[in-house]
Amino acid sequence: MKQIVVVGGGPAGLMAAGQAAQRGLSVTLLEGQPRPARKLLLTGKGRCNVTNAADLSGLIENVPRNPKFLYAAFSAFSAQDTMAFFEARGVPLKVERGNRVFPQSDRAADIADALIRFAKQAGVTFRQEKAAALCVSQGKISGVRLISGAILPADGVILATGGRSYPATGSTGDGYRMAREVGHTLTPQRPSLVPFEVREADCAELQGLSLRNVGLRIAEAGCEKPVWQAQGELLFTHFGLSGPLILRASADLSEIGQKDFVAAIDLKPALSPEQLDARLLREIASSPNRQYANLLASLLPAKLIPVFVARVGIPPDCRAHALTRAQRSETAGLLKQLSFHLTGYRPYAEAVVTRGGVAVGEVEPGTMRSKRVAGLSFAGELLDVDGYTGGFNLQIAFSTGYLAGNCIGNGEELS
Ligand SMILES: Cc1cc2nc3c(=O)[nH]c(=O)nc-3n(C[C@H](O)[C@H](O)[C@H](O)COP(=O)(O)OP(=O)(O)OC[C@H]3O[C@@H](n4cnc5c(N)ncnc54)[C@H](O)[C@@H]3O)c2cc1C
Repeated sequence: MKQIVVVGGGPAGLMAAGQAAQRGLSVTLLEGQPRPARKLLLTGKGRCNVTNAADLSGLIENVPRNPKFLYAAFSAFSAQDTMAFFEARGVPLKVERGNRVFPQSDRAADIADALIRFAKQAGVTFRQEKAAALCVSQGKISGVRLISGAILPADGVILATGGRSYPATGSTGDGYRMAREVGHTLTPQRPSLVPFEVREADCAELQGLSLRNVGLRIAEAGCEKPVWQAQGELLFTHFGLSGPLILRASADLSEIGQKDFVAAIDLKPALSPEQLDARLLREIASSPNRQYANLLASLLPAKLIPVFVARVGIPPDCRAHALTRAQRSETAGLLKQLSFHLTGYRPYAEAVVTRGGVAVGEVEPGTMRSKRVAGLSFAGELLDVDGYTGGFNLQIAFSTGYLAGNCIGNGEELS
């Protein structure tokens, strides 16, 4: 019987291993951690946003890098297939805002357990050991060298070691090196779906403040034209900016920290500067003796007021009626544009995914097989594909894992 080794017991590796074993192949799953799918337990803040109930075009639209490569994988195993897979294995699901799919139990462990059960019932042998390198002989996979030095012979290997994010879960980026050593090209990697660090020290004073429905424009310093803009929710942290808007921007922008980018937060996106001035005048007319800082209380969350006052440079005890036209204009201007210089991405330890990886041009999209090494296939985040938040990254893992497990050993390469 053909011997298949799957390296990595995350969602991609478990799906691939189970699918291959169901086809009658002899499958060993190597996982470096004592328990497979450790990262999966952290997903969706412990609730696991297992997929997104989108159609094929919806999935493709939410993959900023190399979406076309995933067309065949998403077609072979769609979001609806993912949902049917888990429901059939005793995990009822629910669909929330933005088509995000979660287990009804809100327990990521239910998803992880169902995947592990699936692989075990299909006949996969689990082995807790780390792979050190791929063994290739005459352009064809012959086995996997383990950390212990022992060689595990194999007719086929599926590499599913994940990316570099949250390395404490076991995803330390080993697979990138293993793929490169056997001749695969890697595109540069960096953290993605990750917060930004900022230069301004006053950001730390805003730590924990979450702003809903703000506008965000990111532009190179001195440039009017934004390279990125959107509206949504933003969170201040002790080092910089986070929240859904920022994570999305981090997936789209590639030169943060290399060029001087400025993020301008529009605190009142529904109002033009003129409308804001009119609002200020109404506030002033209603209580002219109010101090400036109190006037701002009707416009801003309390935590933001000291930072705002310090930045605008108007004395906080200035009486509302004494505000000059120029001071009103400065206030409206800062409400429309509270700026922070972006100095870099936060590290992999805080990134939801890794951007970059095994170049997809060297992998067959319809099978996940390597075009370079016979008997080698890839699945999951290790590939140079990544999705936005919303369940798309796990769907990538399931779809590519499904295809890899169903196609390994199908072709000429193992005969
Ligand atoms: C905090 C957090 C929350 C997330 N939430 C979501 C979410 O809600 N929805 C969503 O779609 N995505 C989410 N993601 C992203 C998603 O978890 C990943 O994209 C997905 O887990 C990738 O699956 P994978 O199987 O390719 O890799 P991984 O899940 O990283 O699994 C790779 C496995 O390989 C093992 N391994 C690595 N090297 C070796 C080696 N040398 N030998 C043996 N084993 C090895 C690792 O121990 C690991 O278990 C989240 C990520 C994080 C960090």
